[in-house]
Amino acid sequence: PLVLGIESSCDETGVALVRGRELLADVTASSMDEHARFGGIVPEVASRAHLEAFVPTLDAALARAGVALADVDAVAVTAGPGLVGSLTVGAAAAKALALALGRPLYGVNHVIGHIAVDELVSGPFPERFIGLVVSGGHTSLLDVRDIATDVVELGQTLDDAAGEAFDKVGRLLGLPYPGGPHVDRLSQRGDRTAIRFPRGLSRGKDVARHPYDFSFSGLKTAVARYVEGIEDAGGEVPVADVAASFSEAVADVLVSKALAACQYAGCSTLVIGGGFSANSRLRELAAERGSRQGIQVRIPPIRYCTDNGAMIAALGSAMLRSGVAPSALGLATDSGMPLETIRA
Ligand code: ATP
Ligand code: MG
Ligand code: FE
Repeated sequence: PLVLGIESSCDETGVALVRGRELLADVTASSMDEHARFGGIVPEVASRAHLEAFVPTLDAALARAGVALADVDAVAVTAGPGLVGSLTVGAAAAKALALALGRPLYGVNHVIGHIAVDELVSGPFPERFIGLVVSGGHTSLLDVRDIATDVVELGQTLDDAAGEAFDKVGRLLGLPYPGGPHVDRLSQRGDRTAIRFPRGLSRGKDVARHPYDFSFSGLKTAVARYVEGIEDAGGEVPVADVAASFSEAVADVLVSKALAACQYAGCSTLVIGGGFSANSRLRELAAERGSRQGIQVRIPPIRYCTDNGAMIAALGSAMLRSGVAPSALGLATDSGMPLETIRA
């Protein structure tokens, strides 16, 4: 079956077409340039941009896939989490299409989509695996039995998400918004052993109580103190070393806990997804330590890590395969949609 996937949770308008596990087209329009000068996403601007971008993005995806709208067998759309105004535009479009075509509608969880997209790249998932979602708003470890029906959250961040911590450190180092990719680029010129920054919830009682949870706010504060200390003394901040040492601390704790979760669940596959999985040190360290521990690490190429329509079409397609009942045409979007709600 041919699934149309629509993503509009934040600033990316994504439309994709997937048949089974085959990706036929994936087109994304972003309004990030319009937000950059404000140092953050402006929800009102994002909603309007979705409204303007949707039809051209849909047309481009259909043309690229070489299919007609009438060929679509099901429509999948992000139901949450995300910005209310942004979600509403995508959901309204998806409902209109499902109604006009007389096809089922699936309102799906964006965060689970960040993991689901990997099936389009590396093929069917094993019977059980651990998922690590790292994005602008989420950092969670998932025990996945069936991506469409059975996902249990083992742990999550108690404060900042990994991407959020990077964006904050980017601002601290005077880099443009969003800081994540800039900090990553800068870190590649630095010495990751230069400064030993703290690894949150990784020792003694903390790790016993929170084996699969994360905390990045202490790390962010440690970076701020370090930078301030040098500036107050009139010194020059070694920005590349700070970026590299900070990246190392984040990647280290993410990979350690994800591999520990694999051991705990007896899984030999780890799938990493979400915007932050574009991070070069995370990708490197996960591959390195995974192969040492006999764990297969799957991370999609960078264009499928950030928000896109393919992830939503992939999850809709998995739902069809698992025989999940469609959502009601009147489905409500949920800006705070919990991880364990896979379909609205
Ligand atoms: P969510 O998926 O939780 O709703 P989101 O959709 O806003 O959040 P994504 O688009 O998945 O988040 O990811 C964006 C985040 O990833 C931003 O915080 C960005 O800075 C970060 N990011 C992107 N590339 C990199 C990179 N190479 N290194 C570090 N962070 C990165
Ligand atoms: Mg984005
Ligand atoms: Fe996302």
